[in-house]
Order: sequence, then C-alpha cells, then structure tokens
Amino acid sequence: MKRERQIVSTMLRCLRLKCPVCGHSSIIQSPFKIKHHCPMCGALYQREEGFFVGALTINVITTELIILALYLTTMLILSNYQLILIILFVAGLLFPIAFYHHSWSIWLSLDHLVESLPQYDERSKERGQVRGDVKGLE
Ligand SMILES: [Zn+2]
Repeated sequence: MKRERQIVSTMLRCLRLKCPVCGHSSIIQSPFKIKHHCPMCGALYQREEGFFVGALTINVITTELIILALYLTTMLILSNYQLILIILFVAGLLFPIAFYHHSWSIWLSLDHLVESLPQYDERSKERGQVRGDVKGLE
C-alpha cells in the first residue's frame, strides 16, 4: 500500500514537473535546461554523462506513438494525403520540443521509483564524485 502511494505521488509530481523525491522544487532551471540537483532535498538530476539518453528515448518513443495515433486518426477523417503528411510532419517537429521537460520528468520519476535518485553532495563535487552514484566502491 505504501509503495502504491509512493508511485501515485511520484507520478503526480512528474506531471507537475516537480522534484520526484520531495515535490517542492521544479526540475526546470530555464527553458530546455534541467537543474543539476534539487535545491530543497538535494536529489541529483544530472547523474552522469549520457544520463539524458533515457529522457531522449522517452521523448522519441512518445513522439512515434503520437504520430501513429495522429496518422490513424487523420486517415479516418481526411482524404487529402498531402495534408495528412504535412500534419504529421509538423507534429513530428513540434511535439518533441513541447514534450522535452515532461520526458525528463518521466525519466527522473522512473529512475527514482526503480533505484532512488542519489543525493548531491557539494563537497564531493570538488573531488569529482557523487555520493551514492557508484555502488560498491564505498
Ligand atoms: Zn527535491
């Protein structure tokens, strides 16, 4: 029951683009820039090089599903194939841009639910390490 509540609260925070751990701070620093860590609870958002690939994958898969749904819908409604291609092209260009922050939020929430986001430690930054980032070496 507690685990189910955690999943629901994390997903609600995800939809509002809030920190998946505490829900108090936004994950967005500025448009198309995700914060390095949560200023309230210290959860680390930028874990390592290549961590963004998960968010990118979520964005690509969601865009493909949207284009497929849009294609099937427009095929039923419209008969002009060129117009359908233009609609799909515009959707393929604009949707990933509009979905950028939410793809990051979904990725961070899934990562938090699966293995918890590591804590950012200001002192470890100077040493080039992140506490809890590399397990088994402590
Ligand atoms: Zn937080």
